[in-house]
Amino acid sequence: MTGRLASLFLLTLLGCCGLGGCGGSGDPSSKVLVIGLDGATWDIINPLMKEGRLPNIKALVDSGFASHLQTDVPSLSPIIWTTIATGKPPDQHGIKSFMLLDPKTGATVPYTSNMRRTKAFWNILSEEGLSCGVVGWWISWPAEEVNGVIVTSYSAVKVSNRLWKGTIFPDLEDQTYPQEFMKTVRPIIEDCERTVNSELQARIFSRVDTKKLKPIQNTVIDDTRNVFLADEIYSRTAEHLLRERKDLDVVSVYLSGTDVACHRFWKYYKPRGLPEFNTTQEEVRMLGSVIPDYYEHIDRIIGRLVAIDPDRSVVLISDHGFQAETRQGMGQNERSGGHEKKRLPGILLLSGEPFVRKNLTEKPGRSELPTIYDVLPSLLYLQELPTALDMPGRVLKEAFKKDVLLDRPVRSQDTYDLGAASSGAPVAPIASDLDRALQERLENLGYLMLQQQNEPQTGNQDQPLEKSDDEAESKKKKDD
Ligand SMILES: [Zn+2]
Repeated sequence: MTGRLASLFLLTLLGCCGLGGCGGSGDPSSKVLVIGLDGATWDIINPLMKEGRLPNIKALVDSGFASHLQTDVPSLSPIIWTTIATGKPPDQHGIKSFMLLDPKTGATVPYTSNMRRTKAFWNILSEEGLSCGVVGWWISWPAEEVNGVIVTSYSAVKVSNRLWKGTIFPDLEDQTYPQEFMKTVRPIIEDCERTVNSELQARIFSRVDTKKLKPIQNTVIDDTRNVFLADEIYSRTAEHLLRERKDLDVVSVYLSGTDVACHRFWKYYKPRGLPEFNTTQEEVRMLGSVIPDYYEHIDRIIGRLVAIDPDRSVVLISDHGFQAETRQGMGQNERSGGHEKKRLPGILLLSGEPFVRKNLTEKPGRSELPTIYDVLPSLLYLQELPTALDMPGRVLKEAFKKDVLLDRPVRSQDTYDLGAASSGAPVAPIASDLDRALQERLENLGYLMLQQQNEPQTGNQDQPLEKSDDEAESKKKKDD
């Protein structure tokens, strides 16, 4: 009798834990690897998978729930990635673009993490006693205190015309939490800087003959190489966390090269759709495979990340899709792919023990398409936490196995945002000192070609500001 009572008691305890109160079951498949691929689209992935070029993504598709992911407009990276992280619309989370005018100084500066007015998943998980490792997410600098590790992304659009996606700078403060994690990141950066360029050259740019290209094309290739390098640094940092911190409930990593490659190389990838560029056969031969080659490279990165901890569930998402696009008068026509004008769906892929196998990437089906607002409620559900009634999204029940849904009913609470900045007065960006330090640092490193002062207010701009050091290229614009 005692034995039976004891086991009943144990069951009750387990049941309570599953239904309320404590998040995280200790079940390895509740642990999650979230991979954010900026601008990734099934339009590119599906044909490459059929050619056998993306074996790791294909393995995830074959074993999980794959769908399009509806997005918002404008589909600018800082806005959408913050929406995904908070489950809230921009009016509530407060991140409206890349840069804003600092009312105190009159300078145009990047949005900073203190300006986010609702809690991101790393805040929520930490407060609920779960742990996370967050690498490279937009608007995460300065690093916030979390139960785990943050490696931030500092948006360098204001101060460098070479690095316009977030990246890590060797000596900028507050790029990691805890601070001392920078000691782990620094050798990764150094190693990547030493080895990756030749690897990228061999894999992505081996057909390029710089002498046969215009200066602007060579500048674009150099810029892109730097973004690819940032992806390598972020992904190797995430690999480190997956290896050394198996206890972390959620590990996330953001990679931007897929977006940048599509903005810059679409006219070589699909030249027929963009006759106005008069792309030559020679250019197509040299640059036509940059986009598929980079997707292939990303597939290898995904393979490495997943292999470290194969029991971990995988959430692979993008913020929007892509299409051919010209922007007359901008970037001397170096921009040929875009996404801001239409709601081009991104990708959603959920793979692991709790998820059903269903591929809705070719035919979306009749059911309601998942949206960027559904990612956080579903992530919370996976962590056995309630979703929040003030989040417009829903738990994507169609992606979870029936027994999971039976064992673990969807719960909700009013909000996670008690104590968030949303109720307070407007917050100014943390900017001036570090911007200056960063500028000096970049100048010393030779990164900074030309800095600019006193740019106009850019609250709704969709293009980061920049100027080139090369007069002939001075109108070149960066992508988001
Ligand atoms: Zn973009």
